[in-house]
Amino acid sequence: MLKNPPPWPNGARCAVSITFDMDADSILHLAHHASAHNRVAAISMLRYGPEVAIPRIVEMYRRFGIRQTFFVPAWCIERYPQAVETILSGGHEIGHHGYLHEHPNGLPEEEQVYWLRRSSEVIKRVTGKHPRGIRVPTYKFSAATLDHLVADGFEYDASLMGDDVPYLLTNGKGSVVELPTHYGVDDWPHYMGSRDLSYIMPVKAPSQAMEAFRADFDAAWQYGGLFVPVWHPFLSGRLARCHAIAEFIEYMLGKGNVWFAPMEDIAAHIRELVATKKWEPRVDRLPYYTGPIPELGEVEPALAH
Ligand SMILES: [Zn+2]
Repeated sequence: MLKNPPPWPNGARCAVSITFDMDADSILHLAHHASAHNRVAAISMLRYGPEVAIPRIVEMYRRFGIRQTFFVPAWCIERYPQAVETILSGGHEIGHHGYLHEHPNGLPEEEQVYWLRRSSEVIKRVTGKHPRGIRVPTYKFSAATLDHLVADGFEYDASLMGDDVPYLLTNGKGSVVELPTHYGVDDWPHYMGSRDLSYIMPVKAPSQAMEAFRADFDAAWQYGGLFVPVWHPFLSGRLARCHAIAEFIEYMLGKGNVWFAPMEDIAAHIRELVATKKWEPRVDRLPYYTGPIPELGEVEPALAH
């Protein structure tokens, strides 16, 4: 099923990096600049992440003896220092996730660079080091994002969906390791419901969401892949869902030979394999396109949909 899985440390069958994106209320202010402060129930739902879920998740990880990665918008780092301190005290990685969850592919290039660097500075201030990796908010990676990541020395990205195992992104001047994921293991389509944020979808039971996540983990374990769930403290950190996650982690640990690691450790492992020629990853050259495809110029706009 997998053409070229990488060798994992100590003969592990697969690598697992549970990623929690602690967006808190950044997404509400981004969506409703003028009226977010007046949407109090939505704010309370989103603040549940840093206030209640983060301490719960970090304590759960401590119990299992695992270290993982949290992607946190820099505005949330400034706004919720206690949650950040809890994450760091557990030995976990804090990755770049924009400033206010802004979308690079909707911004002029100089603004993309401004927010990228402003956020890196905040992370450097609280962790003592430049972020090793990034998950671009809402996966809104722009045609220029890779250039900015290479220029700023990022080691990895976790926003794309082009494979089941790590691969490299190159722009011809440098590269970053891509640690891919996909929507099926994002908790948003399973759990998100908010009128203020215009998501009215059927909310699933934890058992249904876990069934989907477990299928991805089982396949990664079977074939030597990488399992990167994309979860949010305010969604998956709620009591019944977090209880289901604890059972799921127990299941994964019970299966054996699973390498749980923060993304920065997985990226470093992949870099080492490449440097020592022990494994050759697939390489994607970006951008895929430099503009609209020329064929579209030949059809009526009405036909293009
Ligand atoms: Zn996010």
